[in-house]
Amino acid sequence: MRIMALINTGAVVTPEMRDRLNQLWGNRPKHCSVCGSFSWNVEESIAELHLLATLPQLVSPQVIPLVVITCQTCGNTLLLNALKLGWVPSNSLAGGV
Ligand SMILES: [Zn+2]
Repeated sequence: MRIMALINTGAVVTPEMRDRLNQLWGNRPKHCSVCGSFSWNVEESIAELHLLATLPQLVSPQVIPLVVITCQTCGNTLLLNALKLGWVPSNSLAGGV
């Protein structure tokens, strides 16, 4: 896992995205629905969710970029669409090559 972290593509949560997230999150603490904790962490890197492709050879699968928010106690994970938080994909990622 540590080796993977060294190969950083640069797709990270920007300060602007964190501002937007804080704005949406609001001042009221949000409790974890699994363990009840109020301690969350926003992962630095953006994750991706591959949509299931029905034509595997013809089309590169569509990808949804995600901001990962993890409960610090139990690991319950929230996934927010990075595009909604203002992330602009670079060409290298959008091409899917
Ligand atoms: Zn939790």
